[in-house]
Parts: sequence; structure tokens; C-alpha cells
Amino acid sequence: MANLTSSISNLKGVGKTINAKLNKLNLKTISDLIFYLPWRYDFLEEPKKISQLKINENNNVVGEIDLIHNKRSKIKKLNITEALIIDETGTLKVIWFNQPFITRNLKTGDKVSLAGRLVYQNGQTYLASPVYEKVLKHKKYLHTQGIVPFYHLTSQITQKQIRNLANKALKYTIEIEEWIPQEIRKKLNLIELSEALNQIHFPQSLEELKEAKKRLAFGELFTRQLKAQFLKEKLKSRQAPAITFFEEETKKFVESLNFQLTNDQKTVSWQIINDIKEKEPMTRLLEGDVGSGKTLVATIALLNTALNRQKHNITGQGILMVPTEILAHQHFNSLSQDLELFNIKIGLLTSNNKLANFKLPQKKAEKADTIIKEADIIIGTHALIQENVNLKSPALIVIDEEHRFGVEQRHKLVKKSKKEFPHFLSMTATPIPRTLALSIYGDLDLSIIKEMPKGRKEIITKVVKPEYQDKGYKFIEQEVKKGRQAFVVCPLIDPSEKLEASSAKEEYKKLQEKMFPHLKVGLLHGKLKNDKKQKIMQDFLANKINILVSTSVIEVGINIINANLMVIKDSQRFGLAQLHQFRGRVGRGEHQSYCLLFIENEKALNQEKTVKRLEAMTKYNSGFELAEQDLKLRGYGDLLGKVQSGFLELRIASLFDYKLIQEAQTEAQNLIKKDSELKQSPKIEKRILGE
Ligand code: ADP
Ligand code: MG
Repeated sequence: MANLTSSISNLKGVGKTINAKLNKLNLKTISDLIFYLPWRYDFLEEPKKISQLKINENNNVVGEIDLIHNKRSKIKKLNITEALIIDETGTLKVIWFNQPFITRNLKTGDKVSLAGRLVYQNGQTYLASPVYEKVLKHKKYLHTQGIVPFYHLTSQITQKQIRNLANKALKYTIEIEEWIPQEIRKKLNLIELSEALNQIHFPQSLEELKEAKKRLAFGELFTRQLKAQFLKEKLKSRQAPAITFFEEETKKFVESLNFQLTNDQKTVSWQIINDIKEKEPMTRLLEGDVGSGKTLVATIALLNTALNRQKHNITGQGILMVPTEILAHQHFNSLSQDLELFNIKIGLLTSNNKLANFKLPQKKAEKADTIIKEADIIIGTHALIQENVNLKSPALIVIDEEHRFGVEQRHKLVKKSKKEFPHFLSMTATPIPRTLALSIYGDLDLSIIKEMPKGRKEIITKVVKPEYQDKGYKFIEQEVKKGRQAFVVCPLIDPSEKLEASSAKEEYKKLQEKMFPHLKVGLLHGKLKNDKKQKIMQDFLANKINILVSTSVIEVGINIINANLMVIKDSQRFGLAQLHQFRGRVGRGEHQSYCLLFIENEKALNQEKTVKRLEAMTKYNSGFELAEQDLKLRGYGDLLGKVQSGFLELRIASLFDYKLIQEAQTEAQNLIKKDSELKQSPKIEKRILGE
């Protein structure tokens, strides 16, 4: 007998080919399919009688097939399936194009439900290529009536196929264990998990959809909160090294900078210094919009850690973790430079690279060991946690771009560590207000940088329609002639036949060979070898490259002060969160900066939501306002799935579900208070600890 964890191929209708296609979507087990949630819905109206149908409107209708046959049209060589459908009010003609197999499924006398557009063409009125399904006793409608789900799909699977399969998989939801205690569900009016899963795929009403979403969103938030509260509780019994404040050296460092700290930078640095001098581990979140100068605050904390290692009796290092290799290099270079005055050993440790500002052995294998043993500050990607690097016992861990790491990673670290525990500083540009941040990141204390460094000018953002492209490119040239630099971001690396979108390689060729042969254009994307990537970033930093054509690899953290122009090709393809991050790459210096949102595709201009999204970019500079706009631009139909993943790593819950977030926090706090070791809550223990 198949069960939840059985292969998807156990479902009727999944042969080898479909199985392979589903695997491509990462759908391997029946359970995978159950948790593959729709990302939007169509809300279809009640079925109409044939006599009530209106031309040029979407209609759904139920009737009996009176006649059905295939024929070939001579003119266009189309395969045409014609049918006549009847109900008590009249007869309706239906035409499908190039789907001859339909006559194998539908026969005269069958009752069918159809959803499609009624058109009037060449002197006849007909329902054009409607979605169809047979009406059978005890069978619910999946495709043509009520609220119809849509899934993110690639690999040649149709919505109809996946709906049919999801419907089959849902039979197995009876095996799904409810893990949220009944009293909590009762108190908050939450339906059972298995019910919610059934309803989220095929809601019978808007009410059911809301109920299902609430249950799943709460589950997501509650899991997060439980992890956070559990962590917090665990930390109470741990000790971190007390990191003494080196006042003189810190002053010396701050004075060596060629700018003044903002007041907010001073305040939060002070909060951190005060935290880490205690033995109780710090767990602090530093929130500040892109470009607000978070790195500097981290540097002050790392400097003090390193000085303690050198001059006091602390053995643990300062660790700085970042999401990308490119960013790790940037931080390695800038910290090595900024801390030059002090004799501090800094190492870079990623899976591909081991570097240090002190002497390393020749042998590759020994390099990592030497860095771990000798460096006062180690910079790396999250591989530092994941690949079991044997960090002895770090004194301070700074996590840059926290939204990419999250509570999961903090959890892994706690699980690994024994008695000693590092101080923790997470940094994020995720724009959320204080109260909300406190509840979302339930285990963290919060510091916020609101103020941008002095002298920054608002970035001017413009949408560039196809007819103004040339002007856009001229503008790039003008700025470059003034000595500035530009990023040109493309959605793809290689040209694609399927997707109509600019690729970095083509754009690079066009700019370097045709448009700007007299300028130096660079190309950066994720498939390049690491050395090559570093070289290009360094050349760009040194202004040896005027225009850098790139993919989204430059999305986070990159800091090139002289660059003042961010051009985003096919900008309609990116979400607001990503566009905001891209734009944050410029406007970091004194020069007026610009962000040009190119629209290549005429069709995009007709899509209201797309246009509004890009307009929001031109109106708002702050991440928080954009996050709010982002939410407004989505209707109830498309609140789920990938599109959500922009401003926070929540899948189902929304950043603005204030009430639900708070409820999840309260319940998690209560539960952990009552049962801190989770001895009486095995299901919850399994959920938050068992990976
Ligand atoms: P983010 O908060 O996005 O990580 P960064 O730390 O990369 O921002 O800082 C952006 C740029 O601003 C860097 O070049 C940094 O040197 C500069 N910077 C930081 N603080 C100040 C300040 N107080 N005055 C002027 N420039 C600053
Ligand atoms: Mg940063």
C-alpha cells in the first residue's frame, strides 16, 4: 500500500514520463505534491444556462453532449473538434483546436462542465477551446467551476494534470498528523491540518480558502516562533566569552574613517558593545535599509573581539558570514583595509577559497586549518556552518543578510555547540517595523538604523519604455564619460528560446561590440569560475570596467561607491524586493544616482499589476513602503507560494498578518514556558528539532 512518503508514481496516471517531469519540479513523493500549494486561484462564477451566455465573456456552463466529432480545416491545416451541447434552454456550439484526443474522452450523451470564452467569429457563435470535465456522480469539480487553483509549473505539465494529481494525492491527507495542540486550535479557531490542505487546493468557498490559509500560515509562524523561543530558552543555560570594550582602539578606528558615524550607527554600536561584554550570549538583530552602513557596526564588534583575542584571555574568533562568495571577498578586502592600523589576522574561508592577510602554508588542506587556528576574524559563506567546518568556539558570529539565513541556521549552531556559545549579531535589510520584527524574530533583541549616512541623495528611478531605450543607453554613456560606472542587470545568463528575456551574454556582446566599443564592458554571472568573478569585481571596483553586465548575482551587499547607475533589463520580470535590493547597489556615495527600469516586452505594458509595481519603485525609496505596496498589489487570489518569498522568507503567512504573528508568539512562549524541554510535546519536538 502506498503512503505519504511513497513515490509519486504510485498515483494512477503517473507513468515514467510524467514522473520525470514532476521530479523536475522537485515533486518526488505523494506528500511533496500535497504540500505543493497553489499560488493563485481563478474565481469562476456560477454556471449559466445556455440561453444566458454572453459573447466575449468567460462563461461556465453545464450540458449534455449531443454530438461530437473531429475534422480538419483545409485552410490552416488545423485539427478541429466540434461539439454541440444542450441544456433545457438551448444548444451551444463548442470548438477546440488541435486537441483531437478529446473525442476519446468525451462521447455523445456525456454530461460535461465547460469553462471558456464565448466568441462570435466568421458568422458563428461558439465557446472557444473551453476547459472541460465530465460531470460524474460524487465527483467534485476541479477545473471548471468554483475556485480553481493554479500552480507554478514548468516542464510541460498542464494545470489540469497537476490538479488531477493533487486531487488524488489529497486522499492520503488522512495520514497527516496534526501537530498543533487541540486547545490552541480551539482557542484560535484553526481547522485541522489535513482539512486545511484539502481546502487550500480545492476550496469550496472563499471562506474555506481563508480558513485554510489561516491554519497553514499559523502553522508556519508557530513553527518559527517555537524554534525561536526554544533557542532563547536553551541559551539561558549557555555562556559566551565576555568581550571587553577597547575604548581607545575603537576611537582610533572610528577616527581613521573618512566620514563620521551617523547617530544611529553610534547608538547601535554602543548597544552591541554593552551586550558582548556580558557572559550571557547576545542574540541581536540589526535592521537597516540597504546602504545604511551596517557593515561598519559589525566591524566595530569584530575589532573588539579580535583585540580581546590578542590581548585578553579569549580564544574564540570573530566570524562574519555572508550569503555569497562575491560578498565574502568584498568584506575580506574591506575589513583587511579598514583594520590595517591594527595588527589583526583576517582569513577568508569558503569552499572555493582560502585567503588571509597573514602567511598561509602552501598545501591546500593545511590552509583552512591554519586560518581556523590563527585568524582573529574569519569571513566566509554559510558553508562555514553547513560543511562541518571545525570552528573551535567562536566568540562572536555576525550573520550578514539575515533573511537568507534565518532561524534554521541559528538552530543548527545551537545544536552543535555545547556549553560555550557565541554572541550573535544578525543583520538584515528586511524592512519591517519594530513591533513586528520583535514578534517575527521572537528570540532576538532589536537594533534599528533608520538614518542614512549624510550627503546621500535620493536615487532617481525611471521606467524606460521600449521606444526610449536608445535614450537610456545614451544616458549610460554620458554618466560613464563623467567618470561614473553602471550596472546592467539581466534576468538570464544565456539566451533562451522559450523565454523572451534579455541574457547577460547577449547584452554584454551588444554593449561591448556594437554600442560602446570605446568603453570597457565587463560580464559577471554565476557560472563563471570563482577567480574570474573576483577579478571582474576587483576591476570594477578599481574603475577599470565602466559598465558591468550582470545577472542577479550582484543582488545583495555589493558596495561600489563610484557606481551611480543601475539599469535593470526586463525589469518586469523581477519582484519588488529584488528590484529594491538591486537599486541599493547604487546611491552609496555622494554622486546623484539613477535606477533605470527597462521594459523590453510590449506585452508587459498592458499588465496593470506589472506597471503598478514598477511605478511603486519610482515613487518609493524606502524598503518598508515598498513592502507595503508589494502586499497591496496582490489580491486574495495570489497570496501564496513563490511570489511571497520577496521581503521575508515566509511561504504562506504574510508579513502583515500582525494579529496572527502575535498569536503565534504568545502561544509559543506559553508552550515553551510550560515545557521547556518539550518532554510532553513529542510531536512539536519532532517538528522543530527533527530534520
Ligand atoms: P549596508 O547597510 O547595506 O550593508 P554598507 O555597510 O555596505 O551598507 O555601507 C554602504 C556604504 O556606506 C559603504 O561604502 C560604507 O563605507 C559607507 N558608509 C557607512 N557608514 C557611513 C557614514 N556614517 N557616512 C558615510 N558613509 C558611510
Ligand atoms: Mg551589507
